[in-house]
Amino acid sequence: MQYKGTRLEVDLDALAHNYHYLRSKISDTTKFMSVVKANAYGHGIVPIAQKLQDLGTDYFATAYTEEGEELRDNGIIKPILILHPQQHNLEVCIDRCLEPVIYSLETLEAFTAFAKAKQQQSYPIHLEFNTGLNRIGIDADDVYKVLEKMKSSPEIKVRGLQSHLAASEDTNEQAFTKRQIDLFEKVAVVVELELGYEMMRHESNTSGILNYKDAHFNMVRSGIGLYGYGNDAQYDVNLKPIATLISNISQIRTIEAGETVSYNRKFVAKERTTYAVVALGHGDGINRIYGYGKLKVRINGKEAPTLGIICMDMFMVDITDIEAKVGDEVIIFDPKLHTSRQMAEEAGTISYELLTGIQKRVKRFYKNASS
Ligand SMILES: *Cc1c(COP(=O)(O)O)cnc(C)c1O
Repeated sequence: MQYKGTRLEVDLDALAHNYHYLRSKISDTTKFMSVVKANAYGHGIVPIAQKLQDLGTDYFATAYTEEGEELRDNGIIKPILILHPQQHNLEVCIDRCLEPVIYSLETLEAFTAFAKAKQQQSYPIHLEFNTGLNRIGIDADDVYKVLEKMKSSPEIKVRGLQSHLAASEDTNEQAFTKRQIDLFEKVAVVVELELGYEMMRHESNTSGILNYKDAHFNMVRSGIGLYGYGNDAQYDVNLKPIATLISNISQIRTIEAGETVSYNRKFVAKERTTYAVVALGHGDGINRIYGYGKLKVRINGKEAPTLGIICMDMFMVDITDIEAKVGDEVIIFDPKLHTSRQMAEEAGTISYELLTGIQKRVKRFYKNASS
């Protein structure tokens, strides 16, 4: 029997479509890294990674080592890059065959010490350079110090050079982005020359893939594109959102004019109002900003706006003009009529935040798992 409760339905065929589309945008010699951090942007890290491995992705990336370990525990054998390891969990990278991004002299020194203690030779690492995002990364001024350390550390070897674009989705920032790409290339040339071997270069996220061909280098790192969004509405035609968030009606009630709904009694009915209680709330990742009509869900093909405050486990929607009964489906977002991007933008945020915020207790189901 099909599960009736609150759930995120993920279409793995749509994931395959996005993967193939993004791959078609890069050359055959450029590798494809699938970014599955934050529970694969909320879609469920293990089933998503397994599908991407079957599809032939070259690499995976997670933010933290725990996420990489979860992949290793579940049959992922492709290389895994850890984008944001911290010193205290660098050691486990070696035990689980994870490739750390080394982003500072401190992380380089700490990792080299672990590699030495574990008697490694040429353990693969990636060096991240800061070219303008000003988040983590080695600054241009520190490049020579890093090179000096590398030259005396046979336990590790640079497999990749990484940087991250600050505004690859913003066409007003083209000049800045081009400077980031140029600086990255300059640093890469120096590093390769000094260390005497070639490395993979990677700098593009999804919008870098779509907007900056000359930033593809040897590998691209795609997250949001795999889940159906291209940072720009023009690309959404070619990409397919892969998830639908569905809940159901727990109870229906009718109130008279003057009565109130939900905490703090801020919604006051102007007339006789029938509404449904939906089994989803801010404890599931539906921000309180979606109260007071900011979110419209779909029930039996019609739009129903929220009434009053969003509670932790429930919210209420106006169904005065909708035929509905307890147990009926409530669609919060879907790939076509009301996408998670639209829903996010209605609240002044982005699909990344909405999707990664969907909590564990929302069950994930997968369509087309075997194709
Ligand atoms: C999250 C992340 C990505 C993926 O970005 P998308 O915009 O989702 O494609 C790539 N690289 C780094 C360093 C990241 O942190």
